[in-house]
Amino acid sequence: RTVWADKVVNSVCPYCGVGCQTKVAVKDDRIVQVDGRDGPSNENRLCVKGRFGFDYVRHPQRLMKPLIRREGVAKSLDNLPDPSNPWTHFREATWEEALEKAASGLARTRDTHGPHALAGFGSAKGTNEEAYLFQKLVRVGFGSNNVDHCTRLCHASSVAALMEGVGSGAVSAPFMAAADADFIIVIGARPEQNHPVANTYFKQAAKAGKKIVVMDPRGQGLSRFAWRSLQFKPGADVAMLNAMLNVIVTEKLYDEQYIQANVDGFEALKAKVADFTPEAMEPVCGIAAATLREVARTYATSERSIIFWGMGVSQHTHGTDNARCLIALALITGHVGRPGTGLHPLRGQNNVQGASDAGLIPMVFPDYQSVENPDVRGRFEDLWGRTLDPKRGLTVVEIIDEAYDGKIKAMYVQGENPAMSDPDQNHARAALCRLDHLVVQDIFLTETALYADVVLPASAHAEKLGTYTNTNRQVQMGRPALNLPGEARQDWEILYDIGRRIGVGWTYETVADVFAEMASTMPSLKNISWDRVMREESVTYPADAPDRPGNEIIFAQGFPTRDGRARIVPADVLPPDEMPDVEFPLVLSTGRMLEHWHTGSMTRRAGMLDALEPEPVALMNPREILRREMRAGEVVQVSTRRGEIELTLRADRDCPEGFVFVPFCFNEAAANFLTNPQLDPFGKIPEFKYCAARVDKR
Ligand code: SF4
Repeated sequence: RTVWADKVVNSVCPYCGVGCQTKVAVKDDRIVQVDGRDGPSNENRLCVKGRFGFDYVRHPQRLMKPLIRREGVAKSLDNLPDPSNPWTHFREATWEEALEKAASGLARTRDTHGPHALAGFGSAKGTNEEAYLFQKLVRVGFGSNNVDHCTRLCHASSVAALMEGVGSGAVSAPFMAAADADFIIVIGARPEQNHPVANTYFKQAAKAGKKIVVMDPRGQGLSRFAWRSLQFKPGADVAMLNAMLNVIVTEKLYDEQYIQANVDGFEALKAKVADFTPEAMEPVCGIAAATLREVARTYATSERSIIFWGMGVSQHTHGTDNARCLIALALITGHVGRPGTGLHPLRGQNNVQGASDAGLIPMVFPDYQSVENPDVRGRFEDLWGRTLDPKRGLTVVEIIDEAYDGKIKAMYVQGENPAMSDPDQNHARAALCRLDHLVVQDIFLTETALYADVVLPASAHAEKLGTYTNTNRQVQMGRPALNLPGEARQDWEILYDIGRRIGVGWTYETVADVFAEMASTMPSLKNISWDRVMREESVTYPADAPDRPGNEIIFAQGFPTRDGRARIVPADVLPPDEMPDVEFPLVLSTGRMLEHWHTGSMTRRAGMLDALEPEPVALMNPREILRREMRAGEVVQVSTRRGEIELTLRADRDCPEGFVFVPFCFNEAAANFLTNPQLDPFGKIPEFKYCAARVDKR
């Protein structure tokens, strides 16, 4: 099928954390076809995004030259450029002028207001090497730990709970382990839309006779393959999970031997869940007590049980508590560290695991090594040749808040789009307006770039060489298939130049040099060299030797904590931050859809994907629509205490009554004008999955 192509390049998909390996066919420097390869996480399969979402790379709106804000053009919410005609606000510049303006603005802010007046958002869409360079640039060049990325909006609460409980934020087993399990929980996730190829493995497991339980307030296609489907009440995760823990504890279905050998905190858990009987929790979570008992018993007594979860678990003010309950389930039953068992938060972006590992997080250096630990800090100071900030940095939403308050004065944003992705957009966009200096490095004039002082045209996924780490901890090689358009440059080279101009004394000749430095300081990359990833295409970490496959299952010999033991942290039932009331009677939840990816900057410019889902929609149960005397297909206004948007109403039986779902990929009706910025206190993740809303006829 590809004999007519000029070349076929082996790479990986740019979208979700499944990390499907691809064959990219190129003709006349354009991608003409993408097929699946026989990678460990996809075995030749691709979903609609991976197969058809590639033409954004050559979209006419690609940035080809650096842009600089015109002299005297103020930033305000009422004075934004038309993205199709940005010349009212921006002019083209040479690279020399743009780099100098970008770097001097950052350096001036640092020297005038101090290192904590700057912040940087790196990208989970970029390579591991770019993520490593970006965090190093902020830590060494800016002088603070104010560096974060979209993990904060995604699985930060899961990682907080996993780090606290088992000493590692990564998955304990790959999603292919579903094939070895007897019992599979998929909770707060819609893999058919968000991890479609992983979903094929779940369906295969069901076909092979494994019991799947789907737990989510919204229904979904995977439920057709499930043994039980628990459509619990939105926000009632802890009530439901504590009831399951209660059953396992009171019926003594736990693994006493495993607990004694490996786990602390069981007595506190027993005390905590004593009152959470299924009968008491039934009205709270909306699941019959008998079902809760049956599911808890089957999870505990199955030989091998595994849990997969998504952002329905993590994106709550009690997201860390939700994950703590899942961890407790696995720990008290010993369902971790063996084939077919484990804990797997399904990662969102193609490289959110790798970007987090590489240190794009304000509390930790690469590989989750605390910035507050003097020994760790000393090692990085020796490596990077600079005294480093001993204080944790600010997280994504905190940075935006401080920009709003005028404390953060300059930002460097590489490949992130906070003017779409952050909660409470009226606030977030006002904060971007208040920055003295904003540098945006991206492939399009994104919604965020409209607020920039300098825009640096960067490389698309299909144009760059580098490694990506998928949800399974598989480090994989992405290869360039296309030339860079116009004057666009490689991201890592732009970072390198900016870094040198603000005084980061680094020297790298190739991306492989960056990887080599990472591998020298990240225990997770021990025995994984650049050449090895080039040769083998995919290497799972941790790997025990350079010539032995990595370990797919971890925690078989204890946990990577100080004493090797895991820790249970019991959770209480806490209400969502904002409950429905008379004025805003519905629960609003936001998320992704199959055809579009996150803020839509790529897939809205991918012709076939945008043709499939071309307009913003709000999904509601048909009975709810009828009750409100509305009809599917009409344009409605969805509003919350923070803002309102207009979109088309779509009937969806998967939605419970009293509920409205809005995808966040449509810039013409950005869902995050509605969302609640209130944070989970541990993971600092906003409550994207629950706030009070109303839907009105227009
Ligand atoms: Fe790409 Fe994910 Fe689809 Fe695979 S499942 S093709 S990685 S979007």
